[in-house]
Amino acid sequence: MHCSATLTQLVEVLLASSVNLSETALTQVSCGIQTDSRTLKPGEVFLALRGDKFDGHEFVQTAIAKGALAAIVDFEYENPGLPVLQVKDTLKAYQKIGRWWRDRFNIPVIGVTGSVGKTTTKELIAAVLGTKGRVHKTYGNYNNEIGVPKTLLELGKEHDYAVIEMAMRGRGQIAELTQIARPTIGVITNVGTAHIELLGSEEAIAQAKCELLAEMSADSVAILNHDNPLLMATAAKFWHGEVLTYGFSGGDIQGQLIDNDTVEVAGIQLPLPLPGRHNATNFLAALAVAKVLGIDWASLKAGVMVDMPTGRSQRFTLANDVVILDETYNAAPEAMIAALQLLADTPGKRKIAVLGAMKELGERSQQLHQRVGETVQKLNLDGLLVLVDGQDAEAIALSAEGIPSECFATHADLVARLKTFVQAGDRLLFKAAHSVGLDRVVNQLRAEF
Ligand code: ATP
Ligand code: MG
Repeated sequence: MHCSATLTQLVEVLLASSVNLSETALTQVSCGIQTDSRTLKPGEVFLALRGDKFDGHEFVQTAIAKGALAAIVDFEYENPGLPVLQVKDTLKAYQKIGRWWRDRFNIPVIGVTGSVGKTTTKELIAAVLGTKGRVHKTYGNYNNEIGVPKTLLELGKEHDYAVIEMAMRGRGQIAELTQIARPTIGVITNVGTAHIELLGSEEAIAQAKCELLAEMSADSVAILNHDNPLLMATAAKFWHGEVLTYGFSGGDIQGQLIDNDTVEVAGIQLPLPLPGRHNATNFLAALAVAKVLGIDWASLKAGVMVDMPTGRSQRFTLANDVVILDETYNAAPEAMIAALQLLADTPGKRKIAVLGAMKELGERSQQLHQRVGETVQKLNLDGLLVLVDGQDAEAIALSAEGIPSECFATHADLVARLKTFVQAGDRLLFKAAHSVGLDRVVNQLRAEF
């Protein structure tokens, strides 16, 4: 938040959230709100958040030493040496300030949620809007109850658009984020099985995503993936306002995949910023946003540049024309299958999948891992290497009947094998849940190959 907001305005927000003001001496503030004492700059307000690993309240003194103007905390400090605003719940206060700040900007705010493809779609939307104006977007994957207000607080008057990623792990969370970000356009990329352990069924996941629609103001626009029948059916129950649908099966914006790198829409061929059918779908969502905002697609013919965060849709070429598709950031079942399809469609000598477990899938886990193995088999890949950290990962190899498969118990074993296994012209996909740590394998291979 780089502004000259008055503290009175800030206090107004806090008072509305049952603030007990310990100090009212300050009248004027020209600052930002900072929750990390390490990055706090003199003159900013330090807001102490309680997390699993850290409690911001332990860093109030550090913040003061670094020149914090005031601190927002949840208990009474004795002689802290600076003005302290005491609130009941600092996270709630942070969210309220985030919303209050967002409300000061009369610009299109695009909220993006869905089971998979949120970050990719957010980046594609930002890239498309970036051809017309200055875009503020969620940094990396700061998409939760802290990340969304943080992103909003970084909005500045130089911005023409904001693209906000919203994630959830349970019911009620997207509703909360929508109330904070107040999107004028809401995009739902799809409904799948990610986090099914917590929600129980795909229907429950669909409803949780559609909280975005339920909470949007009636004059907003919903942008929905037509290829996802469960999403379309659920959305119809929650949204009665303007809708724009996109997809390959139909919809207002119907695409046709020409090849891995080109999509055709309404008679115009456009280069895909990221390869593959799933990324083409994400790009159609970005085109839908452009349409709502009156941005001419023809201006996208020259292509747009997308800078994906680490471990998503990243491609590295090693010596001897060996290409790595680095998808190590995470793995939901639908994402796993989309990435395997991309590997199969990538021209090259041998197509090798290097996979590990997917997480948070509850009782469906075994079955969903089997489905991945069956996909490897169906796509007739040339090899499968699996880093096994439990029975589920092994199920991938066991279900890929007829495909040369090998399992490894440690990262070191996998790396050692890859060094002898990889041949010139190979295409290798690396994908697993983040906690499996396949990124370390990719890094080692890149360093040593
Ligand atoms: P997270 O929950 O970690 O924030 P996300 O929803 O932001 O995930 P992305 O980071 O965009 O998702 O993509 C994760 C992976 O999902 C990608 O690397 C890709 O393999 C796959 N993916 C992206 N878009 C789609 C899509 N539309 N359909 C299926 N898979 C997709
Ligand atoms: Mg994301």
